[in-house]
Amino acid sequence: MEKLKNIYTNLFGEQLPLKERFFHFAALGGSLASLLATAASAISIYRVANSLGVSFWSIGLPGMVICFTCVVFFLLTFFIFKITKNLKFSILLCLVGLNFVLFPGLFLTVGGIGSGMPIYFVMGLVFTVLMLDTKPMIIMFIIESIWYALIFYFSGRYPEVFNLGTPFFVMPEWAMYLDEAMDFFTVAISTSVLVKVLAVCFEIQQKRTNELLKQLEELSVKDPLSGAYNRRFLLKYIESGIEKHKETNAPISIIMFDIDKFKRVNDDFGHLVGDDVIKGFSEVLMNSCRNYDVVARYGGEEFILVMPGASEETAYARAEQIRKTVENTEFSPEINRPITVSGGVAGYVSTFKTVEEFIAVADEHLYTAKETGRNKIVWNGSLD
Ligand code: GH3
Ligand code: MG
Ligand code: MG
Repeated sequence: MEKLKNIYTNLFGEQLPLKERFFHFAALGGSLASLLATAASAISIYRVANSLGVSFWSIGLPGMVICFTCVVFFLLTFFIFKITKNLKFSILLCLVGLNFVLFPGLFLTVGGIGSGMPIYFVMGLVFTVLMLDTKPMIIMFIIESIWYALIFYFSGRYPEVFNLGTPFFVMPEWAMYLDEAMDFFTVAISTSVLVKVLAVCFEIQQKRTNELLKQLEELSVKDPLSGAYNRRFLLKYIESGIEKHKETNAPISIIMFDIDKFKRVNDDFGHLVGDDVIKGFSEVLMNSCRNYDVVARYGGEEFILVMPGASEETAYARAEQIRKTVENTEFSPEINRPITVSGGVAGYVSTFKTVEEFIAVADEHLYTAKETGRNKIVWNGSLD
């Protein structure tokens, strides 16, 4: 089962270009179809020969030979591609085989104008459209159309030459219906499978593109170390919050945090442990988020929490909560002292002209917190 899956992946897997997958489908499918055609024509000719009381080989040989030659031919194109790696050439070979050998050959030997064979010609044209680039496709399509038109014309004009299969025997009615039905279902199923493969490929591609776009979007707005939003996104988010404030008058507050004596953490325990602290602190902040709150890394170990809809007082209460949580969190087993943070809170007021002015107030408060002992939160209320 595993082996079968591997074979499938190697021939039709997503990692291959679409044209290569179609080529595999056409070469191996063509070979398999020819094999089936050999068997089917053998059975049907055998029964017809029996009912007419003539020898099997007298009416069956040309068709069987052409069918079996095609089995070999398509397998050959497949291996030629495996050896030469020349996809364009192999595709061309395969198309020539389909349109100029297999279908006309079958038409001549077992089909004729009265059989279901001409509907196979449609498949030859469909493959041409699918597998060639625009320019060679147009040229090939025209050549094939003329070729098929000539086959129709001459098989009408010289039926004794071009409908070789028909004069050999007069098919009983049941065999004619069977033949038509077999031709119809072969072409219908093959074409449907092909179209389905195309649709599924498209869907897979679409899904993958969407996933990549999503990843790209994440990458462009997030900081890889902490998983928090980056500065660019932060500024945009605050800006959009201010716009909303102008419309609805809903408050918006921000808290700027900075880890205390972080340089010493790096110096004492190493940069990697320092990184763990940054990640851990970012997690604490994210865990404290409600809907619409956003955590962003503003600088090295400085983070800003944006709280749309929150008053300065509410933001201060939350900042205090976070400060206490950080004090009680073990960020790394190697650190033998509590990590603490200081914070500055700012609430938006309409006199601010820019986002930077808004952030500057939080920064000033943070500075005051650092100056007055660290591990504390400062806001307008604490300055009164
Ligand atoms: P203060 O209490 O005044 O904030 O003291 P501090 O030591 O934290 O001072 P400061 O903010 O100036 O130092 C920040 C340090 O953070 C300096 C820098 O080496 C370190 N840092 C910045 N980004 C990273 C990072 O991504 N990983 C690690 N491990 N360290 C970082
Ligand atoms: Mg610091
Ligand atoms: Mg700092």
